[in-house]
Amino acid sequence: MTGRIHSFQSLGTVDGPGVRAVVFMQGCPLRCKCCHNPDTWDFSGGSEQSAEEVFKRILRCKGYFGEKGGVTVSGGEPLMQAEFVAELFRLCKADGISTCLDTSGCVLNDSVKKLLSLTDLVLLDYKYTNSDDYYNYTKCRIQDVDNFLLYLDDNDIPTWIRQVIIPGLNDSEDSIRKLAEVSGKYKCVKKTELLAFRKLCVEKYEAMKIPFELIDTPEADQDEVRRLQEIIDSEN
Ligand code: SF4
Repeated sequence: MTGRIHSFQSLGTVDGPGVRAVVFMQGCPLRCKCCHNPDTWDFSGGSEQSAEEVFKRILRCKGYFGEKGGVTVSGGEPLMQAEFVAELFRLCKADGISTCLDTSGCVLNDSVKKLLSLTDLVLLDYKYTNSDDYYNYTKCRIQDVDNFLLYLDDNDIPTWIRQVIIPGLNDSEDSIRKLAEVSGKYKCVKKTELLAFRKLCVEKYEAMKIPFELIDTPEADQDEVRRLQEIIDSEN
């Protein structure tokens, strides 16, 4: 089985616990205005690789994983190639490698359910807390993400919720408290992690000749993100 791969990172430390090999899948149906990887959107981009080829690359990194690390599949949106990722995770788990899926949670079908049965940890990007913003800024419906989260909860799949904090869009205390409410509602959520909006992607947008709609939005202040994280931690 083959999949379309955008890129491979041997030793990632920010996408899940420990040191991880990170596979970025090509193709995404969403259009998040804060997206820092617009080069992953095109479903015909990237390169076609077999699950065995990708698995062999992961195996070469295995010595660095330690107790907590493993593989993370990110994107793009990995759910769009769920059968391929399921095959890759099957190979990894047979070799004792822990599997983590970094996703927007926009799709839930039988292939995705099979993939989730082979996933040890989900990093769920919960991007906004009200339905209008969710759709306007991502082209994904919050109901779909909530359904996905409910499925994770019903099936006891450990989950970290992650949110990129974007000044003026989702950084109000009201929004953060709503996010804390979502986290507190589901027992599968083991951690809620706030990340700071950055604009390192501007050059990618320029090279692709597409507008970066948040060009005038300031980057998030790290101290402010820490303060908001403390609110989340104190409520859960
Ligand atoms: S889901 Fe991820 S890759 Fe897709 S548009 Fe949003 S941020 Fe970009």
